[in-house]
Amino acid sequence: MTTKPVPGSLDWYVSQVPTFPEAPPPQPVPLTATGAIPFWHRLPTDQKVAFITIDDGGLARPPAVADFIWRAHIPVTMFLNSPAAEEHDVYFRQIQVAGGVVENHTIRHNSLAGRSYGYQKREICGAADKLETLFGKRATLFRPPFGEYDSTTLTAARDCGAKAVLHWSETVHEGKVRYQTPEKVVQPGDVLLMHFRPALMDDLLAALKAIHRAGLTPALLEDYIR
Ligand SMILES: [Zn+2]
Repeated sequence: MTTKPVPGSLDWYVSQVPTFPEAPPPQPVPLTATGAIPFWHRLPTDQKVAFITIDDGGLARPPAVADFIWRAHIPVTMFLNSPAAEEHDVYFRQIQVAGGVVENHTIRHNSLAGRSYGYQKREICGAADKLETLFGKRATLFRPPFGEYDSTTLTAARDCGAKAVLHWSETVHEGKVRYQTPEKVVQPGDVLLMHFRPALMDDLLAALKAIHRAGLTPALLEDYIR
């Protein structure tokens, strides 16, 4: 006997995920060994992939997210504030076990632009140290709060172990994708931003459908930035 999953249940979300073309073998983007690290809205790749990122962690943590990510094989990168990560470490570790990767989004979520090197380094390295203790891996990617940064941010992020600083090309909120670029369709290398908010299940599904409509496959940022 087969029954249709109840809309809104985990089974229903899994049943709504489109079938994607197989992801291509990742070709990591070139990085320079010295000097400033890059700041990207979109990864410089022609490969038919896009990237899902989930930010913050303090506001809401829908309980089914880890199982959804696990069952639907959704590659996600989490840019976490370290106090939220520490307070809810079990929740984020479950997503890590499901394949998610934890990256750095500062301690206090203050805008860094215009702040001193010392201030920015404390916020970035402080979070990186805590996240490494909690999750057993040094963050290699950094996203500044509100996407606001200056050249000091790039230096401080590099000095704290980051290989790249990430912005985004689409935001997803309450199940709606908002394009930040004129094309109004997900492009190869695009980075989709959502948050740990109450509608995260809907946001993940909306992101997957938008990526599928564009003929792309979701991939993991860390496979492309090594
Ligand atoms: Zn944020």
